[in-house]
Amino acid sequence: MIENSIYMTVDVEEWFHTNWFNVPEVIDEHYDSVYPKSDVVKTTKQLVDTFDSYDINATFFVLGETAERYPEIMEILKSCEHEIACHGWYHNKKYDNIEDFKNDILKFKNEIYSDAKGFRFPNFSYSSEKFKFILKEGFKYDSSIVPCLNIPSWYGSYKSSTKPYNLNFDGGLSLTEFPMSVLPYIRLPGAGGWFFRNVGYHWTKNVVKYSLKKTGYGMIYIHPWEISDSNPDIKDIKFHVFRNTGHKTLNNLKKLIETFSGNEFLTISDGLNLERNAR
Ligand SMILES: [Zn+2]
Repeated sequence: MIENSIYMTVDVEEWFHTNWFNVPEVIDEHYDSVYPKSDVVKTTKQLVDTFDSYDINATFFVLGETAERYPEIMEILKSCEHEIACHGWYHNKKYDNIEDFKNDILKFKNEIYSDAKGFRFPNFSYSSEKFKFILKEGFKYDSSIVPCLNIPSWYGSYKSSTKPYNLNFDGGLSLTEFPMSVLPYIRLPGAGGWFFRNVGYHWTKNVVKYSLKKTGYGMIYIHPWEISDSNPDIKDIKFHVFRNTGHKTLNNLKKLIETFSGNEFLTISDGLNLERNAR
């Protein structure tokens, strides 16, 4: 891994993919069971344009379900220099049958993008069997594990390393795990997303700053809907879910990029010295 580097990562999905509310219930009640259209294309493009304006590289973990619905997303991402990686197919599906998961990943490779090297499991839904499968399918690294204190029914893997390491499997096979940044020592999360909007810019800045010192890198994460000014105003959804989304978060993201402008922002593949995606 290249020292003192920053990894800007984007999970390309829609506002209703968050697990802060019961998605089918909300869609049934407010949208007559039809999944609403969102501005994910516009906000993905806005993120690309923002990163390009600072001349920094980012990694986009694309959800298959969203890319299928909005083919423009892949047109945008294929026409720029950022890395395209996989965020699975469905976001909130609990795969009772592993074969369904495998078929969905093959569908991503066949229909969305065949050269993805990186994987990020939606909702931290990884397992040893799923890791083995993505490794067999040619993925080189995973970036799903958050080595933080366990947050009940959310995430946390306190005993995991805060630096990249190999997940080893039978037959000498290994997948590189590139963990997300957490506040060192006390292991609190917050390098983006909900924490960036609710706890604030300074919290995320410190997670990145101290991670750089302790682990040699910082990894930030964001979702396109977090910079959208058009998220729905649904009264049953708790205020913190969409708190500070829109311009405020986009501006704070720019501030974060400017704060770390002395560091190199790399795609994860570049940071791991993997070959560039073929386009
Ligand atoms: Zn996600």
